Amino acid sequence: MLSTMQDVPLTVGRILAHGSTIHGRSTVTTWDGQKAVPRSFAEVGARAAQLAHALRDELGVTGDQRVATLMWNNTEHQEAYLAIPSMGAVLHTLNLRLPPQQLAFIINHAADHTILVNSSLLPLLAPLLPQLRPTLRHIVLVGDAGDAAAAQLDGFAGTVHHYEELIADRPTSFPFPMDLDERSAAALCYTSGTTGDPKGVAYSHRSMYLHCMQVVSAESFAFTDADLILPVVPMFHVNAWGIPYAAFMVGASLLMPDRYLQPQPLATMITAERPTFSAAVPTIWTGLLGELDANPGRYDVSTLRRVVIGGSACPPSLMKAFEERHGITLIHAWGMTETSPLGSVSLPPGGLSAEEAWPYRLTQGRFPASVQVRVIGPDGTPMPHDGSSAGEIEVRGPWIAAAYYGGAGNPPELGEKFSPDGWLRTGDVGTVSEDGYLTLTDRSKDVIKSGGEWISSVELENELMAHPDVLEAAVVAVPDERWGERPLATVVLRPGAQAGFAELRAFLAGRIAHWQLPERWSVVESVPKTSVGKFDKKVIRREYAEGALDVTVLGKDTTA
Ligand code: AMP
Repeated sequence: MLSTMQDVPLTVGRILAHGSTIHGRSTVTTWDGQKAVPRSFAEVGARAAQLAHALRDELGVTGDQRVATLMWNNTEHQEAYLAIPSMGAVLHTLNLRLPPQQLAFIINHAADHTILVNSSLLPLLAPLLPQLRPTLRHIVLVGDAGDAAAAQLDGFAGTVHHYEELIADRPTSFPFPMDLDERSAAALCYTSGTTGDPKGVAYSHRSMYLHCMQVVSAESFAFTDADLILPVVPMFHVNAWGIPYAAFMVGASLLMPDRYLQPQPLATMITAERPTFSAAVPTIWTGLLGELDANPGRYDVSTLRRVVIGGSACPPSLMKAFEERHGITLIHAWGMTETSPLGSVSLPPGGLSAEEAWPYRLTQGRFPASVQVRVIGPDGTPMPHDGSSAGEIEVRGPWIAAAYYGGAGNPPELGEKFSPDGWLRTGDVGTVSEDGYLTLTDRSKDVIKSGGEWISSVELENELMAHPDVLEAAVVAVPDERWGERPLATVVLRPGAQAGFAELRAFLAGRIAHWQLPERWSVVESVPKTSVGKFDKKVIRREYAEGALDVTVLGKDTTA
């Protein structure tokens, strides 16, 4: 029997229409380094309509053409986020930290028709022009370009436009189609993988909409129109974890940090603008904590009610330091480009005391009803959810990718990532507890296999970062004649730190099994990072292999 219910498509256009009217007084504000410049959701909606007119009437964007953005988090980017999918085109967010050849690859692979680029990012785009396919017809400069900046595009065979001039005097409403197929692509984001070519994930209107409803729910980020949200996570990193759409859906105002992402400007911005919610990768929060600790009394970040931390494992010491020293609750979340990204969120079960809640909060969290999880053991069969049986995490749900984008005109690419029975193989290794909490121990490619046993690099890093002298620690597997692989610990020490390797090793000895203690140690100035701010372990392994690291060996005999 069929249901008797209406079949209304779930589209980004609905979010735009709702946010710009019902929540018309909420604001999007871009920080300019000194102050914030607000624009109401109503104005943002009107400007999104003007942008849609410009794209369609002047630039000739039709159907599902790809319109790319190479932009910081700012109000104009929010306008593009809303206008492009709502008119039926596909928003392609370009990761401004990708190496140039990968950036050129994804622009060509997606056959982008138009790129909106912040003027300050022109030096990234201009050198790529000779490599770009003629499918790229238009470049729209956003922000004050100046003649010298714009001159960088002199060799471009297409047309160059200026955003404000382009949208000025156009109608402030647009006939956004409300009957788009909800399964059609709304946005495209490529993985920031450090090996091979990036892979494109094409989110549908339906997946975006459902993901958005999950983001705002009480079991996830729980936004309301009383919130001011600071998305530090870039809008090119999995749609800033869904925040731009989720905020528009419920009327939560947005504070956009533009390019001011360093600890000092961030702390200044938070003190001045008083956001209640924020989200970023651990590297950002480690930097902010250092700035706050080094300058007691200078900043007030107490308005932050909740802060989501994800993208890589959150060291427990960081979570505890924010809570105890600054009264800020960090919420640990797990996800990936292929999962839109919201997967699990580490909210503890209700009714627990603060002390009882900690073990739950330190995990990667629980999955929402829409996302199923299974743990696949080394023999390819599902493992029990008992909190100790480890295996590869696989997920399935309405906002999880079923394939990669094959490029313009090509069929989607299936590959090893997608199991024949419809699950995404995440490449993450961990356990799930009986009550559904995920604990990750590693990326499958980062696991350390020592004498047939697995050592968790994440656990070693977390324990090391609990030492007061350690700012950051990254642990990788290196070849070992006797054990196959052993851990190499690279550490970044805090300024003025006294601790030597022997002390760090002794510190670890009280916290992890003896046979897991690293023998190889190296102090580094900073841990190499990927384009989205995660530890780049491939680089560390390569540096070790090339003999580029200054390594001290301690207690080698004790590993027997
Ligand atoms: P990306 O697609 O760039 O967002 O990367 C996704 C990957 O980041 C995941 O597969 C995990 O390996 C890692 N990741 C994301 N969130 C977490 C987390 N909370 N803890 C540990 N690793 C994480």
